[in-house]
Amino acid sequence: MFYADVILPVPLEGMFTYIVPDDMVSEVRVGVRVMVNFGTKKSYIGIVARVHETRPEGFELKEISKVLDGAILESQLTLWQWVADYYMSPIGEVYKAALPAILRTKEGRRNEGRGTHTSERSFPNDFADLQSPSSLFTHNSSLKELTLVQQRAYDDILASFETKNVTLLHGVTSSGKTEIYIHLIMREIQRGRQVLYLLPEIALTVQIMNRLKVVFGDRLGIYHSRFTDSERARLWKRQLSSERHDIILGVRSAVFLPFQNLGLVIVDEEQDTSYKQQEPMPRYNGRNVAIMLAHQHGAKTLLGTATPCMETYYNAFMTGKYGLVGLYERYAGIALPEVRIVDIARLRHRKEMRGTFSPPLIDCIREALEQGEQVILFQNRRGFSTMLQCRTCGWTPRCGQCDVSLTYHRTTDRLTCHYCGRHYDVPKVCPACESEGLSKRGVGTEKVEEQVRALFPEARVARMDLDTTQTKNAYASIINDFSEGRTDILVGTQMVSKGLDFGRVSVVGILDADTMMSYPDFRAYEQAFIMMAQVSGRAGRSGHRGVVILQTINADNPLLLQVVKNDYRTFYDKLAEERQAFHYPPFTRIVSIYLRHRNDAIVTAASRDLANALIYTFGSRVLGPDRPPVGMVRKMNIRKIMLKVESGMDMGSVRNALRRAQMRIAADRKYSSLQIYFDVDPVG
Ligand code: ADP
Ligand code: ZN
Ligand code: ZN
Repeated sequence: MFYADVILPVPLEGMFTYIVPDDMVSEVRVGVRVMVNFGTKKSYIGIVARVHETRPEGFELKEISKVLDGAILESQLTLWQWVADYYMSPIGEVYKAALPAILRTKEGRRNEGRGTHTSERSFPNDFADLQSPSSLFTHNSSLKELTLVQQRAYDDILASFETKNVTLLHGVTSSGKTEIYIHLIMREIQRGRQVLYLLPEIALTVQIMNRLKVVFGDRLGIYHSRFTDSERARLWKRQLSSERHDIILGVRSAVFLPFQNLGLVIVDEEQDTSYKQQEPMPRYNGRNVAIMLAHQHGAKTLLGTATPCMETYYNAFMTGKYGLVGLYERYAGIALPEVRIVDIARLRHRKEMRGTFSPPLIDCIREALEQGEQVILFQNRRGFSTMLQCRTCGWTPRCGQCDVSLTYHRTTDRLTCHYCGRHYDVPKVCPACESEGLSKRGVGTEKVEEQVRALFPEARVARMDLDTTQTKNAYASIINDFSEGRTDILVGTQMVSKGLDFGRVSVVGILDADTMMSYPDFRAYEQAFIMMAQVSGRAGRSGHRGVVILQTINADNPLLLQVVKNDYRTFYDKLAEERQAFHYPPFTRIVSIYLRHRNDAIVTAASRDLANALIYTFGSRVLGPDRPPVGMVRKMNIRKIMLKVESGMDMGSVRNALRRAQMRIAADRKYSSLQIYFDVDPVG
């Protein structure tokens, strides 16, 4: 008798054992999709993770009802298991995150397309074919020749890979990192190996895609969430077949695609917090999973950035765990932009501000437009006004299900909750005191756009934020219009801050540096520095030196001086000292434990109970429970406990202790329907 352990898309720990009926024995193999009944007769598509002959004791077993096709490689299952263990998430949740929904919900036709094989072993070995010189993207001529310093960096990377699995390319903005990647990719596919190229944002994939397409043509495949589910499923199946792309460009979820012969993983803008999935489970960091994926395949990982995150800085500059290659001049010898701090507190006092715009910023924009150059304006909040307030009594509209004030959106003329997405009408009179007139406070990208249009009516203005990029094509049209000079000014959130390469941008305006620095998290300074350095990096990438206008009410903040001097070493060294002194990563590891319940009293009691249980095991390493800054989302009251453990501590036993405590609290009758979940290596 054969049994199969099956992964199901349910939020429960572990896998589920089914009987393999006799007539299915030859088809049921690891990685095959099967239909099974689970719970109250509900039918699910699951993945076979193991076939064996040991009948589990004490359960009544059901039979597999149907075998579908092979969709997952054994190596992928190993990666899923690692993600589930490390990020403390049920493997069923990893399955849900990894597989395009269609493959989890629709049976599909058997042997549909070429890509449907039943096991890893059945893939034809056609690398010889791929290596034939004729297939190399005709396109070879569009490969740019590297400069001497770039060539040296390229050689250093390969040398570093001799001894290190992970290497950091620390290259200032516009030094030609992308060109170096392209050369490394070419080398890898000529050796018949696959490359995964990860980017943190869809906006970036659109631009890099154009640069890679001209060199690699059809060898390139793209994968991100603005593709439809069936497009993603098609790419997945293609990657299982002999028609697979050699290069995959994608965002974090691309780490879950099937790779058959991976040689190199590139994680560009590796510091970016968008690599971390916040919601739902598994709360994984795409960068770290990518390193693991490469490791599994015996491939190398190249992390690239001008502004490494603290953990990577530590590994590359301080301990030498990662290799390090530096590239400290911009392509074509252009100087890094000049950063000018503008004290808007003083200007406001003197009534010299025009809305959110200071006179020096207005002058710079005017000059750029006169020269036919372009401008990027960065404001890290979307919407029009971040808050409405009654002029008489101070009442502020808040979300009915979340503990936050609502943002006013001019385009829809409604109020929106940025946590749950719910919309509300704008009240005509204040519901608290019935007086008329709510004042709008706090500036979002919509307002910046409106003001800049009023100041420069002749300029062509576009806006890029979550609201204007709901479709795949929206990204492309905004970016291409700007690249090709059809727009003059681009207003946006952090989407415009990173990685984008526009030749004619001479001015970057950071409208409000202060909200970034005041965020209540130990990473606020790191994030603020990175964001400002990144957005500054968009200025003056070709032609002449660019200028950055940094508006702030904290003009003498030392952080801003480091941005001005682009002095990342001083910045990181000081930050490292502080992190060490206060026991923060990378000197410790953090696991945040969240509890959620509709009833505030229950979540309060349960979080105290859980914290006490943890204190018993971990002592002063436990902080909290606390109510997070946004203490209720979608009517669920939230509490957070933080665990800080020394980096040397065995994480396996830490996780076990956490799970035991979780199970004890979750089993307690008085806490029924309590949710407890973990966030390992949180980023925000
Ligand atoms: P980074 O990725 O470091 O920000 P990029 O690779 O985007 O830098 O390079 C900045 C700009 O300079 C791009 O437009 C790129 O095409 C150009 N560039 C860089 N290196 C070369 C080169 N060797 N030959 C021609 N153009 C180059
Ligand atoms: Zn009022
Ligand atoms: Zn809400």
